[in-house]
Amino acid sequence: MECSFLVQERKLVRSLARESMELPVFHLAVGRGCPVQCAWCSGGILAQRTISGRKEVIFRKIDDVLQIIREAISHGYEVFQICFDPYPQRHEYFLKLFPRIREEKLPMECRFEAFGLPTIALIKSFKETFPGSTFCIILKPDVGSEQVRRIHQGYAFANQTLMACLEQLNRFRIPCHLTFTTGVPFETEEDISKTIRFQKEIQHRYPMVKKIHHVTFEIEPGSPWHLYPEAYGVQTSLKNFMDFYHHSSERKDGPPLSGILDSQLLSGGRKCQGL
Ligand code: SF4
Repeated sequence: MECSFLVQERKLVRSLARESMELPVFHLAVGRGCPVQCAWCSGGILAQRTISGRKEVIFRKIDDVLQIIREAISHGYEVFQICFDPYPQRHEYFLKLFPRIREEKLPMECRFEAFGLPTIALIKSFKETFPGSTFCIILKPDVGSEQVRRIHQGYAFANQTLMACLEQLNRFRIPCHLTFTTGVPFETEEDISKTIRFQKEIQHRYPMVKKIHHVTFEIEPGSPWHLYPEAYGVQTSLKNFMDFYHHSSERKDGPPLSGILDSQLLSGGRKCQGL
């Protein structure tokens, strides 16, 4: 019989791993495609047409998704990340999937990456389905300036609408992570300051915002930044397949970015990351 101290210790380690998000995460692909196009993305509608010839969004059958979840659980996965939300205002698919997960009592946690802002119906169903300690919804304002957001995002939302959504996540006690970036084309130093102020306001007002990630975007092949760099004022050496191949191979020791940021913006980035 196992010593109870060891069992307790293992539980503690597991719970710390959950908290620090170190548990292995299963990336649950429930579909492919996107009906809009963000400036940086090679998964948007234009890029998908170029790369895979895909003209429309496809969802996997719910029964197939459930089978994948069962199999992943049988291999020890507990945390599932869904990064597929092509219709942020029409969540019928997830409103069918989540009740099936509840019916089967599948022991899983979920991190849901929203492409826009989640509807109330999704928020309620999500909370009902994943009542554990490591579930969360990830929102991507990317920048504090609405104007810059409108230029770059396919599903740009207003800051007020984001705040209203964060109110709902607070109300339903759903942990939320936000992601931001710095150094996108047409972003000024004042915009970066705006992003910092916006992040501080959010941290102050919404306790369910558990993490604010600050990431740097790279140029993805087939994205508008890559295909039409002049339109975005972007200078890049990444033009063809071999450029991306070498860039990816050298990344470990090379610069963190794709060479689109000037020193002024880099210092702005450091300012944000230091929050
Ligand atoms: S919403 Fe934007 S970032 Fe997300 S998949 Fe569509 S184009 Fe890419």
